[in-house]
Amino acid sequence: MNSKLSLFDIRTFLESCLLSVTNLSADIRINNICTDTRALVPGDLFLALRGESFDGHNFIPQAGAAGAIAVVTDRPVEGLGETVAQFLVEDTLVAYQRIAAGWRQRFSIPIIGVTGSVGKTTTKELIAAVLSQFGHVHKTKANYNNEIGVPKTLLELSPDHDFAIVEMAMRGRGQIALLADIAQPTIGLITNVGTAHIGLLGSELAIAEAKCELLAHQPPQSTAILNQDNALLMKTAQRFWQGKTITYGLQGGDVRGTVDGENLILDGVSLPLPLAGVHNASNYLAAIAVAQCLGLDWQRLQSGLTVELPKGRARRYQWGQDVVLLDETYNAGLESMLAALDLLANTPGKRRLAVLGAMKELGDYGPTFHQRVGAKVKALGLDGLYLLANDPNTDAIAAGANGVETQSFSDGPSLVAALKTTLQPGDRLLFKASNSVGLGAVVSQLLAEN
Ligand code: ATP
Ligand code: MG
Repeated sequence: MNSKLSLFDIRTFLESCLLSVTNLSADIRINNICTDTRALVPGDLFLALRGESFDGHNFIPQAGAAGAIAVVTDRPVEGLGETVAQFLVEDTLVAYQRIAAGWRQRFSIPIIGVTGSVGKTTTKELIAAVLSQFGHVHKTKANYNNEIGVPKTLLELSPDHDFAIVEMAMRGRGQIALLADIAQPTIGLITNVGTAHIGLLGSELAIAEAKCELLAHQPPQSTAILNQDNALLMKTAQRFWQGKTITYGLQGGDVRGTVDGENLILDGVSLPLPLAGVHNASNYLAAIAVAQCLGLDWQRLQSGLTVELPKGRARRYQWGQDVVLLDETYNAGLESMLAALDLLANTPGKRRLAVLGAMKELGDYGPTFHQRVGAKVKALGLDGLYLLANDPNTDAIAAGANGVETQSFSDGPSLVAALKTTLQPGDRLLFKASNSVGLGAVVSQLLAEN
């Protein structure tokens, strides 16, 4: 944070939610806002968050002992001593968000908020790679994209940053609105609207509306960047946003690109694609639209970019003799399954094999969506289907893929054993399922036994 934040600033930021403050005598400079006493260093302010399985308030004595100069708490704390300021608030999470929002206002750099049903992290990483060509980038780390992660990300802003990219996720209505209110992005980017979390939200329209909360809550003078290839997004966005807009797409848009082999062609210029797959070409186009919006010379990207995504996304491993494993095991929903199956089908090789498992949180849509995944396996003419876990979802995939050679496994080790005996040179495999299915461990096991 390289903080110029002081205790009086905290009092100002918390004005609307402060019940009382004690031991606040001097405007002492704070080193950092810390929510985990294991990371606390002397001079920090400790903010006690409450979660389902933990309560930071239990660690306030440790925070005091470790040298915290102030605490934000929802109950008065005895025995901390008179040198530790206490900010008493009703809800410490709200307080955390207010402090982050206040800190963010100190920065006049471009802040790009990224949301969408799929491709948020990928697009964030691609934007970061593009903008790194032009300055010092701050970005959401890991998956810190929720009501705690977004404030955390903003609190990491420091004066040497030229750009910040903030991933914003949601599991229900009102959540993106809150994150946008806190982050106040100067650019709001929506990658797409799909069916992730449809079991929680009920319909694709409800998901579209929840994503478009970003537009309704970003500052009026900011810019919206929207994926024109997504019809429902474009239609819904109109109801939420009348401000400056830049559209991008592979089919149309202000920033329009076409895929030619491993390149993206844009205004007659050929840019090497940093990540394989048409879906990642779309994500890259979003990143170029950001550069264009900021007036940066994106043609500099002709020499190519290297982008490595976090584990389980767009990872490609060589295995044995000329076998390629496409590891997309981080997560799965309908759109990302279909996109990844296209990627497999377009990967040159001899046999193409899909190793799949269930997609979670689909509610009543589960059977139909799994069946559609199976139908895609069949339509693409894949050479084999391996399923992990025998459950109604994998049964629905198998039913959709009727006619494709299919094997089901109840546990990871037996799947690994079967793959090891059947893989041949020229095989290309896609691994994809919701994270909890455990296909990531299957890939790790295979690689370990390579
Ligand atoms: P989360 O909601 O878990 O944070 P996310 O939106 O950040 O997910 P990513 O982690 O970027 O999404 O990608 C998840 C998976 O979605 C990838 O493994 C890839 O298969 C697929 N994917 C990425 N971009 C797209 C896209 N534009 N269209 C369809 N599928 C995509
Ligand atoms: Mg993500």
